[in-house]
Amino acid sequence: MSSISDWRVWAEIDLDALANNLRWIQYGTRRRILTVVKADAYGHGLKQIASHLMQHGTDVLGVANLAEAADVRATGKGWPILMLGACHGKGEFRTLCQDKISATLSSAEEAAELAEVAKELRQSVRVHLKIDTGMGRLGVHPEQADSLASNIFQKPQLRLEGIYTHLSSAEEDAHFTSNQLKIFRECLHKIHAKGMRVPMIHVMNSAGIVYENEMFGNYVRPGLLVYGIVPFGNRDVHASWIHRLKAVMILKSRIAFLKNLSTGMPLGYGQRELCDRPTRLAIICAGYGDGILRSGSREVLVRGMRCPVKGRITMDQMLVDVSCIPSAQRGEEVILMGCQGQECLSANQIARRCGSIPWEVLTSITQRVPRVYRGVNVS
Ligand SMILES: *Cc1c(COP(=O)(O)O)cnc(C)c1O
Repeated sequence: MSSISDWRVWAEIDLDALANNLRWIQYGTRRRILTVVKADAYGHGLKQIASHLMQHGTDVLGVANLAEAADVRATGKGWPILMLGACHGKGEFRTLCQDKISATLSSAEEAAELAEVAKELRQSVRVHLKIDTGMGRLGVHPEQADSLASNIFQKPQLRLEGIYTHLSSAEEDAHFTSNQLKIFRECLHKIHAKGMRVPMIHVMNSAGIVYENEMFGNYVRPGLLVYGIVPFGNRDVHASWIHRLKAVMILKSRIAFLKNLSTGMPLGYGQRELCDRPTRLAIICAGYGDGILRSGSREVLVRGMRCPVKGRITMDQMLVDVSCIPSAQRGEEVILMGCQGQECLSANQIARRCGSIPWEVLTSITQRVPRVYRGVNVS
């Protein structure tokens, strides 16, 4: 095992912050929580995050595929898990049944296939009906939602556990979002009118929670927000508790080498920059091979001060101007993402700088980067 002093780039994951964020979301929304842990828990490490969320009161975990579901299942034997993605066929439906994962269904064809598999296995399976209210991805057309619900209801192997939809634009388009909610409400009304009762109704992703006033449904379904990142948008944030959330991940590296360069010396591939004055340069062993986005990461923090990145970020290394810190030391910590002292480099800032989104910034961090867990229950 390598020790932290050997690592070039690492991600510190604050499990206390994770638990606190979850608590604030519970408090703020007054709803049960289906926490989304797809894509390795947004790059934070699926098993550790899932297990900590189970200990701290998430009600359900949402995943994007059956490999993720199996990892969560290995962590918490009886825990409710919802597969948010579609299953590719009977083989996947069989795995889903055996692992006791709840399925997302968008069509009668899927319902028939799953019922058949469940029948072969002599078991029942829990399903969530998804309605496409304006995302254009998974989900049944709203006009067919009540007939699909009846169809599912009539199949003895299928237990209709939930109904949901996904918001596409909650951070920027109040009108479109309220129309999505209206369509969903009408579908639910028709389904209820047929006498069907469904225990879980969930709509609100992170943007919905942050930018909508009304928390539709009895569960909310956040991902990003649980990891302490508030999705940026141009609508007003109403809930003051949002500001209590704290980023769970800090991405760190250290100064590997220091040198002085004189005016006019070229910096990096393509000589994209020249030294415009005598420069104290720190070489950091972190690059796009670690998931440091080339256009997004133009500053790092050293001793709580913002220091500019010079030249192009390479696969494994980057150049940082530390002229403002003459006493900077080899081996000293550098923050690539996160806060130090009064300064912060957030996933949102990095994303904005390169025309990306915080979800992509987090999930870009590669497997080469060790995740270190910190918090009260961790040694
Ligand atoms: C990823 C995902 C979420 C979580 O989205 P955030 O914006 O990260 O909160 C919720 N629901 C579905 C269906 C998703 O795919």
